[in-house]
Amino acid sequence: MPNELFNSYMTGPDETGRFGKFGGRFVSETLMPLILELERQYEVAKTDQSFWAEMNDLWTHYVGRPSPLYSAERLTNHLGGAKVYMKRDELNHTGAHKINNVLGQIILARRMGKNRIIAETGAGQHGVATATVCAKFGLKCVVYMGAHDVERQAPNVFRMRLLGAEIVPVTSGRGTLKDAMNDALRDWVTNVRDTFYCIGTVAGPHPYPAMVRDFQSIIGKEVKDQMSAAEGRYPDTLIAAIGGGSNAMGLFHPFLDDMKVNIIGVEAGGKGVTDKMEHCASLTGGRPGVLHGNRTYLLQDDDGQILEGFSISAGLDYPGIGPEHAWLHDIGRAKYVSITDNEALEAFQLCCELEGIIPALEPSHAMAHVMKIAPDLPKDHIICMNMCGRGDKDIFTVAKHLNFDMGTLS
Ligand SMILES: *Cc1c(COP(=O)(O)O)cnc(C)c1O
Repeated sequence: MPNELFNSYMTGPDETGRFGKFGGRFVSETLMPLILELERQYEVAKTDQSFWAEMNDLWTHYVGRPSPLYSAERLTNHLGGAKVYMKRDELNHTGAHKINNVLGQIILARRMGKNRIIAETGAGQHGVATATVCAKFGLKCVVYMGAHDVERQAPNVFRMRLLGAEIVPVTSGRGTLKDAMNDALRDWVTNVRDTFYCIGTVAGPHPYPAMVRDFQSIIGKEVKDQMSAAEGRYPDTLIAAIGGGSNAMGLFHPFLDDMKVNIIGVEAGGKGVTDKMEHCASLTGGRPGVLHGNRTYLLQDDDGQILEGFSISAGLDYPGIGPEHAWLHDIGRAKYVSITDNEALEAFQLCCELEGIIPALEPSHAMAHVMKIAPDLPKDHIICMNMCGRGDKDIFTVAKHLNFDMGTLS
């Protein structure tokens, strides 16, 4: 038992979708019946063997699970302390963990008889994963994306088009990910009958945070088995990068009641967590408020206006964090830190050079924290970090920051 207050840290949320004072269901009356129907259907699917049988089959044959657990020997030797393992979720189809969750939601959508899938995307990674699975099942796919992001993320926009998705550039509000999510919610209310809203992280109104976590928990479950096989025990420390928090929640959740396991989430510190707000560290630098149907820590100004985060890594710039993380932070079961752009860039390069793995900029944040703490830990301390995405998408960003002129190559 974790302590005298909780029998288990794994049973949340409660019936109202709350993790302590976070989460919940702050939605309009028009949206409520849709959310309740989704919750009912998910509750049924969750305990249905055939649902998980379909998931497992596609995880194996379409996504390529289980992803390997890899002992990073040269990195470990270089750091000279703790033994570092990487959970290789960047090897999944589409190059990141997002597809774990998208598959679950789309299998659910098909059970519910919905043939039109909508999604919001910032950097485009969730949009690509959604467009991929929609193509596989022949479903219509509409992706809402901030107008500014459509310009910035041209390769992912093109990928989604190739996969047959329709992209809707969002100009309402400030044309950011937050506005794209609001427009997607509006679409859902207008097209109730045939439409399913596929959310890309552990955010949104209940049951999304719990449902997305359940689908991503395959990551932590596999680590339990793989680490037991490799080392005969669980890791001492888990580390994962946090945008909205889905890959981290997926790694952490199966370990929440294993009190010997330290849990660390890494937020994007951008140019540094100061009051200039040039970061995306919702927990370390934000305050509680309500966004996208749930209460959680948010980046906001003194008037409660939601602020656009800043990070070199577009996948980490969600202005909030999943409510379960907000709760784990408040009760102290998990610790949250931040890593700056420069620290992440350094980790990115070290990972390439020492391990032959080009990481995405998101997990480079997790690795930068590994680099900070591993040297001071004993050699029998095991760290497992989630390598949640591959870096092909980020090479142009990195080239720019390293003043490498791609033009001179041609
Ligand atoms: C989207 C994304 C993230 C951030 O999302 P989470 O919900 O926090 O996991 C992190 N890493 C990669 C590679 C991503 O594509």
